[in-house]
Amino acid sequence: MNPRKDKTRKQASGHPAHSRRLADSVAKTIEDVACCEYCECDMVYPIDWEQSDGHNWRVTLRCPNCEEVTDGLMDEELIEKFDCLLDRGTDSLVRDLRNLTYANMATEINAFVTALDAGHLLPEDF
Ligand SMILES: [Zn+2]
Repeated sequence: MNPRKDKTRKQASGHPAHSRRLADSVAKTIEDVACCEYCECDMVYPIDWEQSDGHNWRVTLRCPNCEEVTDGLMDEELIEKFDCLLDRGTDSLVRDLRNLTYANMATEINAFVTALDAGHLLPEDF
């Protein structure tokens, strides 16, 4: 998906044409970059970045909830904090994925054991 098209679509559907996250001012706090300015979702993540000048980076951010795409400027200190926040989010997702995988496997094993106990599985099933 092209994020630029996505942004145009969102603006046409009622979002303001200008961003509260001023693209040309350096973000001050992690909340300025990690929280969506439209729906307040706190899972905004970067989809593109480039060094802007000296210590600042121009980062394109995407909200997974409302799909809004915005640009922002961050200094290296804020980039480091954002990176740590993203790493914690990744760890949380991986932990949830492992738990779901385990739960699904347990469900399948229980169904298999129940079928075995009821005599519904025969050697020719394999
Ligand atoms: Zn949003």
